[in-house]
Amino acid sequence: MEKNTYRVLLYYKYVPVEDPETFAAEHLAGCKEIGLKGRILISTEGINGTCSGTVEQTDAYVELLRSDERFADVVFKIDEAEGHAFKKMHVRAKKEIVNLSLEDDINPNELTGNYLSPEEFFKKMQEEDTVVIDARNDYEFDIGHFRGAVRPDIENFRDLPEWIRDNKEQFEGKKILTYCTGGIRCEKFSGWLVREGFEDVGQLHGGIVTYGKDEVAKGQLWDGQCYVFDERITVPVNQVEHVVVGRDHFDGTACERYVNCANPVCNAKIISSEENEHLYMRSCSDECRTHPRNRYFIEHDMTVEEYDARMEAIEQHRNKTHIG
Ligand SMILES: [Zn+2]
Repeated sequence: MEKNTYRVLLYYKYVPVEDPETFAAEHLAGCKEIGLKGRILISTEGINGTCSGTVEQTDAYVELLRSDERFADVVFKIDEAEGHAFKKMHVRAKKEIVNLSLEDDINPNELTGNYLSPEEFFKKMQEEDTVVIDARNDYEFDIGHFRGAVRPDIENFRDLPEWIRDNKEQFEGKKILTYCTGGIRCEKFSGWLVREGFEDVGQLHGGIVTYGKDEVAKGQLWDGQCYVFDERITVPVNQVEHVVVGRDHFDGTACERYVNCANPVCNAKIISSEENEHLYMRSCSDECRTHPRNRYFIEHDMTVEEYDARMEAIEQHRNKTHIG
């Protein structure tokens, strides 16, 4: 395959869509005709998509979406790629395009934090009395984040408001900056912060992916990689220096490789070297390692004897190193 003949598009727009189901079905047909692959969410509040295709296919998609006047001004973040970043094409009608599940929902077109360009964000994040809150999930933070950013201890974005309320004293009287991958989550979250009474709230316009491409900011003060929701899993951000912040789940060493726990019931994202993936049978815990439906066990067609020998090896390794 030739290098960089593909592209990955990331985009969203908060704009009223009257009948998301009908629109989603029509849109899916259009995407399939082009040969695009990806995941697109439609709701009454707008559209949120990430998709991949050849340069021709993605050009055709940009044209298709922009031919609808509601989406004529959608901003596309474009990454060069060596192939598709998805296996299939999904277009789904959902209740929200990002799941914050607020009782009293926020419309970012009416209420949102100040938009900061990458350059402005870069400067402001270094000012005193500024606190930077990562608006993403814990596993996204763990592989990369802005230096010194607050890591909300949440597995899902929808738990963020409650976490902020529980930890309010950290943020009171401070200038607040928030960021996410492409900007869509911050639009709502920063609006929610303003409604909660925080006075100085800024959001990174265009998100981390735009920040990493900006000619002035150059991704600076970003450590690690940026987690993305496609087959690439992570993409680089900082053009000036690369500080690894990811830590191997099993031995705590520097690592930037994500795998999913082999227990299908768990499926947790764990950072692991290839070596440890095999040593620990890609399982986050003993409970997962001994789960009857463990995929690693099945994928490697292991006999009971082989499995027992591996468990024994883990036990010995653990006694030696006090880890795992
Ligand atoms: Zn697990």
